[in-house]
Amino acid sequence: MSSQRDYYEILGVARDADGTVIKKAYRKLALQYHPDRNPDDPKAEASFKEVSEAYAVLSDTEKRATYDRFGHAGLRGAGVDPGFANADEIFSQFSDLFGDLFGFGGGGRGRGGGGRRVRRGADQEYALELDFLEAVHGVQKEITVPRYSHCDACDGSGAEPGSSPTSCPTCGGAGQVVQGHGFLRIRTACPHCGGRGQVISDPCKECDGNGRVRVTDTLTVTVPAGVDTGLQLRLSGRGDVGDPGAPPGDLYVHIQVRQHEAFKRNGADVLVEVPITYPQACLGGEITVPTVDGEAPLELPAGTPSGKVFTLRGKGAPRLGRRGGRGDHHVQVVVSVPKKLDKEEEELIRKLADLQGGHVAEKGFWKDFFDRISG
Ligand SMILES: [Zn+2]
Ligand SMILES: [Zn+2]
Repeated sequence: MSSQRDYYEILGVARDADGTVIKKAYRKLALQYHPDRNPDDPKAEASFKEVSEAYAVLSDTEKRATYDRFGHAGLRGAGVDPGFANADEIFSQFSDLFGDLFGFGGGGRGRGGGGRRVRRGADQEYALELDFLEAVHGVQKEITVPRYSHCDACDGSGAEPGSSPTSCPTCGGAGQVVQGHGFLRIRTACPHCGGRGQVISDPCKECDGNGRVRVTDTLTVTVPAGVDTGLQLRLSGRGDVGDPGAPPGDLYVHIQVRQHEAFKRNGADVLVEVPITYPQACLGGEITVPTVDGEAPLELPAGTPSGKVFTLRGKGAPRLGRRGGRGDHHVQVVVSVPKKLDKEEEELIRKLADLQGGHVAEKGFWKDFFDRISG
């Protein structure tokens, strides 16, 4: 439940108060209502929560701006619930600040209600190279990924089978210790067990007491049709195993698509360059062009200029995501000029040149020309 009172009023500061003034006001009120100073006083606890909520909003530039413009309703509209369920949540969120505010250094950075600290497993990365058409059509790939997995010998506890972890003698298994003196006490992660609440006296030989072992997983990755270089697939839970009770990390598969000798990609569109002959360009007619689905006919109009692009709608790569459908296939035709002509071809082309009235130099003209100017 978040407060409906004005946050500036709660902290007793002006609306244009700067960060230092706000922090100072909160320090004073937090000390006044601190639960360690007011044991079993629900009214003080409510006030402690209220001032902390006001501070949570006014110390955050973005939340403060939203609150200034639109009030409590604005924060709700932005999906911000600044309220605190209990004091532990406040210590957890402002652990750095409490150390800073009350003069105790470090520690106490555990999140989640001040319980024992458990860490999620680390994420793993894998670079997956695909052929152009595999990326367009989708593919299943078997990959091998090294990662840390649960140690079966000790069932992840880290303690040699037959023994078991014991409750940490420093924190009594709570994972946190209370530091300080008088009414000014703060909770921090236990320095002896690192917040886990347990210590191992007889470590498991399989995993050296880590509770996890290095393994190599063989996984089948289903690559959806339409992926491209730069995209990453997330395989949930396929990263390193986490602490007992914490979730494992994820595996990120980074897609890298190899170049194709003919096709290029531009998003979901596919581009290909197709050579045509001069007679085809002049006379038109049906030609065959390559697409990602195989060959397709393309009707070439008479008088097609070199470089013209024809588009086959919906013949490109599939679009990822909700939009669906497929991109287009663009064919750029380029008039190819033969390097060599046989005798008959040459005669025909000379005849054509004569017809068009163009002057064509006799064979050997340019050779003589260059011989003259270089000699
Ligand atoms: Zn083990
Ligand atoms: Zn401990």
